[in-house]
Amino acid sequence: MVPVYLDNNATTRVDTMVLDAMLPFLTEQFANPSSAHSFGASASAAVQQARRQVRTLLGAAADQEIVFTSGGTESDNTAILSGLEMQPNRRKIITSTVEHAAVLTLCEYLNRTRGVVVERIPVDRQGRLDLGAYRRALGPGTALVSIMWANNETGTVFPVEELAREAHACGALFHTDAVQAVGKLPIDVQQTEIDMLSLSGHKLHAPKGIGALYVRKGLRLAPMLHGGRQERGRRAGTENVPGIVALGQAAALAAEHTSDEQNRVRALRDRLEDGIVRSIPGALVLGDVEARLPNTSCITFDRAEAEPILMALDQAGIAASSGSACGSGSMEPSHVLRAMSVPYSALHGAVRFSFSRNNTIGDVERVLDVLPAIVARARHVSPFAQPTSVAIAAE
Ligand code: PLP
Repeated sequence: MVPVYLDNNATTRVDTMVLDAMLPFLTEQFANPSSAHSFGASASAAVQQARRQVRTLLGAAADQEIVFTSGGTESDNTAILSGLEMQPNRRKIITSTVEHAAVLTLCEYLNRTRGVVVERIPVDRQGRLDLGAYRRALGPGTALVSIMWANNETGTVFPVEELAREAHACGALFHTDAVQAVGKLPIDVQQTEIDMLSLSGHKLHAPKGIGALYVRKGLRLAPMLHGGRQERGRRAGTENVPGIVALGQAAALAAEHTSDEQNRVRALRDRLEDGIVRSIPGALVLGDVEARLPNTSCITFDRAEAEPILMALDQAGIAASSGSACGSGSMEPSHVLRAMSVPYSALHGAVRFSFSRNNTIGDVERVLDVLPAIVARARHVSPFAQPTSVAIAAE
C-alpha cells in the first residue's frame, strides 16, 4: 500500500532536485566557507548563491538582508530578542494568541524573567485577528510586534502588510513568522513594511535544521549567538553549507512554481473538504475560509475525538495530524482551537490535512474512501457520544 502523506505543515519531503544540489557539499565540496583556500572559496560562493535564491523568493532588496539560521525557531527567537535590544526604551511586545510555541514560549519567558510586557491579541471563531484590539494595544511603549503570516493549524492568513504599517506608525518594529507562508503564498517584502521575517527549510522541501531570517537593510540585528564573524557577525557558527545550498535550491523551485503548484494543491484540498462535508454529518471546516493557505484543511468532527481517527487513518496508511506536531501526543486540545472558542464538543475532534506538491487526486480519494467509517467508529467510542457524559456537562 502506497502511503498517503497529508501532514506537510509538520514537515515536507526533501525534493530530489534539492537533494542533488546539497549532496556534493557533504562529499567532494566539504570545505569550510571561511577557509582561505580555493575549496573554501567555492563553498562560500555556494552560500552566496543560496542567499541570492532566498532573497529572490522573498523579493528582498539585497542579499545581505538574508541571515541563515538553524530553522524557524531560531529565526523567531533571534528576531524577538533582537527587536527588544534595538528598542531599549520600549518594554512591550505584541503578539497573537495563536502563534507557534517558538514565539509564545519565548514571550512568556521574557515576561517572567525580564518583566517584558506581552499582549496577545485574540482571534474570532474563524481565527481572524481582532484588529480593534491590535490597534488599541499599539502605543509608544511597544518595542516589537510579532504576528505570524499564516497559522500552522488552520492555515488562516493574517493581514501582515496592514499590521506592519500600523506598527510602524507608532514606532514599533514588525516581525512575522512566515514559516508556513513561504512557498505557499506570493511574498514580496519590498512591497511591505515588514522588518524581519522567519522561514524554515523543512516546510518547503529542504531538510530540517536550516532556515533564514530576513532583516530589512539598515536594521542593526543584535545577534543571539556570539562567536565567529559568520553571517556578517549576525549569526556565529560554521555555516551549514549543505543545508544552506538545499534551502537555496528549494527557494528557487518555490519561486518558479508557487502559483501554478498552489492552484493545483488548492483544488485537491477543496475536493477533500467538499467530499468530507458531503459524506460526514457534523464535519466543520475551521479557520478563515477566504483568507487561508491553499494547502491546509483543519476539519473538526463534532462528538468525536481526533486520536482514534488519526490512529485508524494511520493503520490505513494515511498520515494526518491533530494540530501542531509539537502539540500532538498530548491529549490537550490545541491553544489555537481554544483561542478560536471552538465549542467543547468539537474541540477534541479536529484533524489537520496539509498538502504539498507531492499529493495527487488518488490521495484525496483514499481518504474519502475510508474516513466516513472511521469517524462513525470514533463517535461510537467517544465520551462525547453520551449526552449525559461529564465531558458534555463541562461545556
Ligand atoms: N513557526 C511555525 C508557524 C511553524 O509551523 C513551525 C514549525 O512547525 C515553526 C515556527 C518552527 O520551525 P522549525 O521547526 O524550523 O524550528
